Amino acid sequence: MQQAKILGAAAIAALLISTAAVLANDIVITGGRVIDPETGLDAIRNVAITGDKIVAISEFPLEGDVVIDASGHVVSPGFIDLHSHGQNIGDYRMQVVQGVTTALELESGLVPVGDWYDGQAKKNLPMNYGASAGWIHSRIATFSNTDPLATVDYFQDAQGRTDWKLDIASPEQSERIISLVEQGLKEGALGIGVNAGYAPGYGHKEYYALAELAKKYNVPTYTHVRYASNTEPQSSFEAIQELISLAAITGAHMHLCHINSSSLSDIKATMALVEEAQAMGINVTTEAYPFGAASTVVGAAMFSGPDWRSKMDSTANNFQLGADRMTEDELTDYQANKPGTFIVWHFLDEADSAALSLLDISVTNPATAIASDSVFWSYFDENGKILNYDGDAWPLPDNVFSHPRSTATYTKILRSYVRERGLLSLSEAIRKMSLLPAQTLEESVPQMRTKGRLQVGMDADIVVFDHATVADLATFENANQLTVGVQTVIVNGGFAVRDGELVLDAPHGRPIRNAVAD
Ligand SMILES: [Zn+2]
Repeated sequence: MQQAKILGAAAIAALLISTAAVLANDIVITGGRVIDPETGLDAIRNVAITGDKIVAISEFPLEGDVVIDASGHVVSPGFIDLHSHGQNIGDYRMQVVQGVTTALELESGLVPVGDWYDGQAKKNLPMNYGASAGWIHSRIATFSNTDPLATVDYFQDAQGRTDWKLDIASPEQSERIISLVEQGLKEGALGIGVNAGYAPGYGHKEYYALAELAKKYNVPTYTHVRYASNTEPQSSFEAIQELISLAAITGAHMHLCHINSSSLSDIKATMALVEEAQAMGINVTTEAYPFGAASTVVGAAMFSGPDWRSKMDSTANNFQLGADRMTEDELTDYQANKPGTFIVWHFLDEADSAALSLLDISVTNPATAIASDSVFWSYFDENGKILNYDGDAWPLPDNVFSHPRSTATYTKILRSYVRERGLLSLSEAIRKMSLLPAQTLEESVPQMRTKGRLQVGMDADIVVFDHATVADLATFENANQLTVGVQTVIVNGGFAVRDGELVLDAPHGRPIRNAVAD
């Protein structure tokens, strides 16, 4: 690590001794309100970066080749997203412009994991990336007798089949499922993605085997739980209880994805379950995103069965495709003929204060990391087919759509939860968006021990934003609107956003892998 050049009376002696060895820093961020959630630092400081590391944080002036004036701005560790599905460069760009510097596909995951990392490495991504080993991919491959492909198309194209969603695996099938997942861990996957809500027919022993495997490799599982329902049986509560029981029995770290959407309106009960489990020392963690609507494939298993509408308090009007709500006829048509289509599903009405307060319970709980569950940006082709946008136009073309969480999760927290409604302090919000997600992974992923912190020696993954103006503009009707108020984003010491604009040539992202592969 090169020594920072400190210009101040206190440092002159050091300078005299080592003048020849001292070089100017690559980048200096001056005069910002520097917040580090781990040490509690919250003060005006100058920050120096050399190479891909933070090399000085000082009250004294620092010298650098490039100087960023951050006066009037907050300087924070870059945000770490534990739940990010979009895999194309445009998806990552829509994340980086709001300050995300690491985005991980953990809930679904994929296999073969090595293929996925190889593919991502060729995309010149602007941020750090990584994935879990996907149980769903392994299940689809096993039931369809195919070799899995590490793409979302492989998942979407399988939506018409019901066997992998609803059938108990035979012993031979279980063996293949587990071996595909285990191979993913050997190739560096960040844990096991257990998208149980998409294959709720699995057997208890299969889930137990996944938890045992996670414990053996000392990696987490990331679960979208088996059920989403406000009423028993097969309730959200029951499904979260299942996850906690396996963590307690096996000792595995089991992460509960989007407790907000998986709990629907039963969040008080499910949040209490998680809190009590943690108090008992059970290794359970969780996350939430700040929206009362989810996004998923219209053919998802949760939207099937005789009573799914009553269990989820939903009709076709709760489903949105593009800018419009669906009719019952459209919903029936899409479920029968285009089940892999991604839709937005409104499960809590944020305009209703009682519903919003339920969402707030999940978002503001100190145990809850903020994670976006961002989904692909997609568009209708000339035949009316929906495709994921994989071009590199910037800004994204006008006709693409997604859920607003795909570009506005972190800036919505800063605008709504911190500045406008005062439900989170600024430092607590930053902790939930950077340090807490890093801590969630760092036992099994050493790379995360130097992320989520703004300290000397830590990775130069940094966001600079104007706390007075930072805001999300994306809406459900038009999500393709960029966030405002983010001045600078630095990833591994390189600019991803500068002067509020995306840097187009910014291939600074690196793969994040588990320790097993080392
Ligand atoms: Zn999910």
